[in-house]
Amino acid sequence: MQLYSTKQQQQFVDLKEAVLRGLPPDNGLYMPEFIPRLSTNFITNLSNYSFPELSFEVAQALIGDSIPSFELKTIVHEAINFPAPVVKLSDQFGILELFHGPSLAFKDFGARFMARLMSYFNRDNDQELVILVATSGDTGGAVAAGFYDTPGIQVVILYPSGKVSPLQEKQLTTLGKNITALEVQGTFDDCQALVKQAFLDQDLIKNIRLSSANSINIARLIPQSFYYFEAYKQLETKLPVVFTVPSGNFGNLTAGLIAQKMGLPIHHFVAATNANDVVPVYLNTGDYLPKPSVRTISNAMDVGNPSNFARMQDLYGSTWNIIKDEISGFSYNDTQTKEGLKEVYDRFNYIIDPHGAVGFLAAKAYLEHNPNTFHVILETAHPSKFIQDVENILKIKVDIPQRLAELADKKKEATLVDTSFSTFKDWLISNY
Ligand SMILES: *Cc1c(COP(=O)(O)O)cnc(C)c1O
Repeated sequence: MQLYSTKQQQQFVDLKEAVLRGLPPDNGLYMPEFIPRLSTNFITNLSNYSFPELSFEVAQALIGDSIPSFELKTIVHEAINFPAPVVKLSDQFGILELFHGPSLAFKDFGARFMARLMSYFNRDNDQELVILVATSGDTGGAVAAGFYDTPGIQVVILYPSGKVSPLQEKQLTTLGKNITALEVQGTFDDCQALVKQAFLDQDLIKNIRLSSANSINIARLIPQSFYYFEAYKQLETKLPVVFTVPSGNFGNLTAGLIAQKMGLPIHHFVAATNANDVVPVYLNTGDYLPKPSVRTISNAMDVGNPSNFARMQDLYGSTWNIIKDEISGFSYNDTQTKEGLKEVYDRFNYIIDPHGAVGFLAAKAYLEHNPNTFHVILETAHPSKFIQDVENILKIKVDIPQRLAELADKKKEATLVDTSFSTFKDWLISNY
């Protein structure tokens, strides 16, 4: 597998370089040189494959020449070790539950796959790889769980003190082993600035092998295409299938576009956002106008300049009139999101989280003008991750899954640091 940068399409790197670097030096995003089409035979016989088995077939087609088959099989089977069931709500709606992994959000798929791929590509190196991640909440939990106990890799998570939820903080600070948390006395932007500066510091990069677990790493995108196949496999409908994707940085939706290009018969995509509506506005008008993000109750989608937009454009040769025919965009404010969440509960007796509720509203809006379609709505996180809002809206108690609940009693271990780069640099040098 060869990859190019969305900003420089004539130069190629191999998968190892793309995964270990994360970002090309020109600040574009890595894209596969070509996306293979799977055989019709495979697509029509998906139900003969388990989730890890079909994931391996998809991975093999995409990246099979970069990793020996038996190694790739192990990586896929270890990473994709929890289910992605479609819960049927009605003859027109199904919910693809992507929250059955360790951190209860879809990011587990990407983080688990990336950890194993990095470990594989780093296997012949004596020097440990030190992964730096800044998190405002969800990413850190998935990365911590995904990289836990991965050979040859240390993970340093920087999070803003007092600005992540108590359970999110426990997800970052209680694992131990190769996972270390730095509690930064500042904001998420301060955390991100520290990480960025570390990558530019010649002294540091000479002495420590640094890498990032950024969400734009191609290793996080690839496994997100697997569950579109897994979802399609479970459907019994004869109607054209539409996937509705609650979106922030648009990694999930981009992975769906890749699955479609590989031959999965997806009729249409619906991009659902909260008030951060840059992409829906683009789809409806042709104008792409990034703006500062605003806070919402579906906060994992509070993104003002989605990083994967460059990949979506790349897939369609930047042609708006083609993109807008393939993807419809809708956005909703918090009041509407709460009503959507309540509607799903009242109509279907299903507890959806605020991100999924945005998806439901968008699917419903599309359905109004396209009645003969079946909608798979991606449910990106478990409702208990947003328990306060969900309980307030529905006036019921929400169960917290065991693996999240038991974190509450675990002991937090984090090193408190200020926002100065010299403190961070000294800490890195004395620890790695
Ligand atoms: C990260 C996240 C999203 C946004 O996904 P993108 O791939 O960035 O569009 C949506 N919902 C939840 C719960 C998330 O954690």
